Amino acid sequence: MTPAPLVDGFGRVVKDLRISVTDRCNFRCTYCMPEEGMQWLARDQVLTFEEIERIARVAVERWGVESIRLTGGEPLVRAHLPVLVAKLAALGVDLALTTNGTSLGLLAGELRRAGLKRINISLDSLRPDRFVALTRRDALDQVLDGIDAALAAGFDPVKVNVVMIRGVNDDEAVEFATFGRDRGVQPRFIEFMPLDADGAWTLDQVVPAAEIVAAIGAVYPIEAVSHGPEPAARYRYLDGGGEFGVIASVTEPFCGNCDRVRITAEGTFQNCLFAVDEVDLRAVLRGGGSDDDLATAMSGEVARKWAGHSIGKVTFVKPPRSMSQIGG
Ligand code: SAM
Ligand code: SF4
Repeated sequence: MTPAPLVDGFGRVVKDLRISVTDRCNFRCTYCMPEEGMQWLARDQVLTFEEIERIARVAVERWGVESIRLTGGEPLVRAHLPVLVAKLAALGVDLALTTNGTSLGLLAGELRRAGLKRINISLDSLRPDRFVALTRRDALDQVLDGIDAALAAGFDPVKVNVVMIRGVNDDEAVEFATFGRDRGVQPRFIEFMPLDADGAWTLDQVVPAAEIVAAIGAVYPIEAVSHGPEPAARYRYLDGGGEFGVIASVTEPFCGNCDRVRITAEGTFQNCLFAVDEVDLRAVLRGGGSDDDLATAMSGEVARKWAGHSIGKVTFVKPPRSMSQIGG
């Protein structure tokens, strides 16, 4: 089958599929999950590897989807994840993973050998006390070891996702830049989005990406790297010390270039991180639906994709799912 691009109503082509493999997590980051009271999906509610592979194959064969990112919850708490990685790598896509890094000491090499190409490790503070307050887990050393394990396994670049929150860790931009330069990893500073489970997000907690760029640029001379439609604006150190990126989802939304769609752990298809509607692919799969039925369900939702989110405006509607239930 020759792929034909899947285009939404605004002319944007779908190229990137984000798949959550579990809603469970060994952390409880304050900006993502409540401390207690998360109701996990039952095992049989979560898509099997075979179901995930089938959805991915339909998207790749029919529409030429180029990249897939596995996320969660924490994807590495899903047993045998390298098995899924190998199945998806066989589709020939650019395969990536976002993880909190705690299991990489054990799994980085196996994931790489299974065909994982790219890795983002989330780490929001380099200070032990803050790390514990943010994640509600005492695991900073484990994450740092995970970063080292990813480097040792040959992932290049290793990107470090940092969610910046005003009054919490907004004084660490330069520390993260120095950390990135020293360790040979690339920080990606992400603006805090209203997808926290507690619904406590406020606009004044958002640290504008421009402020982070200015803080780092005041210490290390930098230049912008010209970039395509990807959300991260990238900057390079003039002394050759590497690069960092900023993702200004709130202050400079990139919805006009959005090429992503998402599948939650229980198999609902979402056309946007902030979607309030979704379509149930698991029902199609388990109801005996054909590949055509799957494709029709997904393309119908893509046709309904809106122009962009309206975070910070009165028209914004907080989506029913928090970040850990969608997959970042
Ligand atoms: N557990 C994995 C991890 O933390 O990397 C993968 C799932 S996590 C939901 C994916 C990404 O979303 C992480 O980089 C995390 O920091 C980010 N994230 C979670 N909640 C967020 C929020 N409210 N605003 C911005 N980014 C958020
Ligand atoms: Fe877990 Fe990732 Fe959410 Fe933190 S950001 S609670 S590690 S899913």
